[in-house]
Amino acid sequence: MSFSTLGLSDQLMQAIHASGYTTPTEIQSRAIPIALEGKDLIGRAQTGTGKTAAFVLPMLHYLSSTPRTNRTRALILTPTRELARQVEDSITAFGRFLQLTSLSVYGGVNMNNQIKRLGRGVDIIIATPGRLLDHVKRKTADLSGIEILVLDEADRMLDMGFIHDVRTIISRVPIKRQTMLFSATISEEIKKLAATIQKSPEVVEVGERRAPAEGITQHFYSIPQNKKLNLLFHLLEAKSLDSVLVFSRTKHGADAIARKLAHKGISATAIHSNRSQAQRQRALDGFKQRHHKVLVATDIAARGIDVERISHVINFDVPAFAEDYVHRIGRTGRAEATGDAITFVSPAEQMNVKKIERFISKRFVVERFPGFDYSQETVENFHRGERHEAFSHANRPQKQKENEQNSKYDKVKKKSINRVNKTGHSSEHRDFPNAHNRKNQFRENPAKRINRGRVTTEAQGSDWGALADDAKDFEKGFLKKLFTRDR
Ligand code: AMP
Repeated sequence: MSFSTLGLSDQLMQAIHASGYTTPTEIQSRAIPIALEGKDLIGRAQTGTGKTAAFVLPMLHYLSSTPRTNRTRALILTPTRELARQVEDSITAFGRFLQLTSLSVYGGVNMNNQIKRLGRGVDIIIATPGRLLDHVKRKTADLSGIEILVLDEADRMLDMGFIHDVRTIISRVPIKRQTMLFSATISEEIKKLAATIQKSPEVVEVGERRAPAEGITQHFYSIPQNKKLNLLFHLLEAKSLDSVLVFSRTKHGADAIARKLAHKGISATAIHSNRSQAQRQRALDGFKQRHHKVLVATDIAARGIDVERISHVINFDVPAFAEDYVHRIGRTGRAEATGDAITFVSPAEQMNVKKIERFISKRFVVERFPGFDYSQETVENFHRGERHEAFSHANRPQKQKENEQNSKYDKVKKKSINRVNKTGHSSEHRDFPNAHNRKNQFRENPAKRINRGRVTTEAQGSDWGALADDAKDFEKGFLKKLFTRDR
């Protein structure tokens, strides 16, 4: 099939041609005709399948072939800033021969510029839910003219606890509209959401459920936690890896890895939520332009990273959630390219490998890395995750201390639910500047922060802590998802 059979306008065909796309991917060839008819749509497609163009192209076709209004006509909700930027880039590329304006709206950057741009009027808004809701509440964004609504990576948005924000936003959008929902997985929760916001949607499912993109070779290597850095150096030195995305479970781990690599003379940069949007963008651009050979990222920050020809994804930690594994390795082998995914597995992480195997219905062999000297001296014991392993029986007092801290944290979590319930959705909860310092403060006296009416999601070395890694983005949302599910 070629793009010309899909019924897209000449200007869009020209832009597609200029983008270098020749053949539509499966999700594009199946979803575009349905979307062009104005029908509601559920697209089950993983990242890397070309789903962005599957909704951007028909949206641009509709907006450019129907009368303009002086209000925003299309809204795309994404879970992360990076994905919002990526979708905006796609709109700019495909809309280059059209007279449409678009704006991405996300947190972590100054609101005033967004207010000015919104005030001048835009045809398309691409937004993360938290920041958009702030604008809606301040009446600086008007959603009353929306004709097309897209939820991109809806499963992720729900995972991040944005469901209430998403529902509030949708309640401000006219009922008469076209709604397209894209998600890598269609859970019961997604079905429930779709049932309340869509009308008789057509469902397009591509690829095998939960399967990572084809063309990705997956390797699992056993390695003690404190030798992971040695193995990373070994890999980067021995193999000709030119564009490597390394995943770390924590922000501090990401920084430390990038720093150690840089000391070793390997150009590396890190991307995570403690960095400002400008720093994140600079890191991403530097990696895209091949100034850095290695980009070290946390799971949340990596959402939406779209870099062509990432040759290798290295999981420095095994993700605690199997779904994250699929998302991580989907960063390589994009759009039918090939790539390698390498996962470092410490003895304590074997259980997580089992979870991944069950999730994607595939068995892996966890083997020793051939040619690597396992007896060599440890580079440095730096990673937060290592603390877990360092808690051996011989070190019981320290472990007990950690357990106490965790149970203290559990109590704080419970208190924080009440706080969320009481204080509702105030943007104060999202305001989490200087997270690093606050974390230390929290360690000393967790209750202090709660007393000041803030919800915390910082916890050390646990799955909880890893999930809450991007505290800025889903501090409030994540707690709400876990603890206010029945509200
Ligand atoms: P997405 O799943 O939308 O994030 O797209 C993944 C990658 O595939 C991006 O780099 C797109 O530019 C690329 N892509 C999407 N559609 C096509 C196509 N029809 N032909 C070639 N590359 C594509």
